[in-house]
Amino acid sequence: MARLTALSGLGRKSAALFLLEIEGRRLLLDMGGGLEVDERPDLSQAGRIDAVLLSHAHVDHVGALDRLAEIGGPPVYATRETQRQLPPALRPARLASLPDRGSAEVLGVRLETGRSGHAPGGIWMRFPTLRGGFLYTGDFSTEAPLLRCDPFPRSATVLADASYGDREDSLAYQIAALTEAARGGAVLPCPADGRGPDMVAALGAAGLTVHACPHIADETERHTGSRPPGATPETATAAQVIVADGPNAEHGLPAALRERPGFRFIFSGHVPRSSPAHAMIAGGHARWMGWNVHPRLTDILAVAASTRAERVLPAFVDLTTAPRLTAALGPRLRQCTSLEV
Ligand SMILES: [Zn+2]
Repeated sequence: MARLTALSGLGRKSAALFLLEIEGRRLLLDMGGGLEVDERPDLSQAGRIDAVLLSHAHVDHVGALDRLAEIGGPPVYATRETQRQLPPALRPARLASLPDRGSAEVLGVRLETGRSGHAPGGIWMRFPTLRGGFLYTGDFSTEAPLLRCDPFPRSATVLADASYGDREDSLAYQIAALTEAARGGAVLPCPADGRGPDMVAALGAAGLTVHACPHIADETERHTGSRPPGATPETATAAQVIVADGPNAEHGLPAALRERPGFRFIFSGHVPRSSPAHAMIAGGHARWMGWNVHPRLTDILAVAASTRAERVLPAFVDLTTAPRLTAALGPRLRQCTSLEV
């Protein structure tokens, strides 16, 4: 018997912390930190953990790694690319590798992984169980121009990223809208190791000259082989289209430019209430336009169909805001925080 317990990550956009008890082991799938400044996930229910498995290196999936001592100091498993992205303050003493795609074994527990199309090095994980298999999608997207999402294997129980709830806009539509909005100059903040290279490539292909901060320029060069023109606090002008690390203008080039007159900001990701981006949008000094890095409603339903899932747990979403997803999943929907898988 295997049991999944969501310590956090169900019911709203919050830290990913999922306990999987399987074959006598206690595995923690992701060890996220809070998205808000004052948010600190409760680890008291985790108990002693044998190993932590990471889906990717974003803060809501790894941000509590500095608290490993609270769960017995277990080893941490992640792909090599995810390991590379971990900030020094969150780097665990004991790190072991998971494949980007293929079979793996963690303390005797078998699993299969595949690329999740959301971040470089990001993976889904699938565990064989007596009830037909358990799949954790991690954050995933099937629309990213530069990142692959490998097909999800058949699984009776699926814990699925549903961060966008009922959203249906396609990335292609969003790229066209953002291209028009950014023409004439805009700062487009994005996270490190996320959609930056895609933004540079897609807006460039749409005819814009796109500049990038040094961090995003490095990432773009690594993924596409070509380096966009740079932008720094000294060289940036309001007439440039600039993709820069600092997703909510809390650090990096966006933080340096946010008080300067003339710069138009367009945010495109999750905006925490405690972030500068939230205040800028609320004050009418910036706008928000979507750029999908998570699945649309149709993508979630496609996963449920292709895996032949009998039970689907939509993660990172308040289902009261997603009535269409709720209705479409019908009897497959599970909202309980603990169930046999
Ligand atoms: Zn993510």
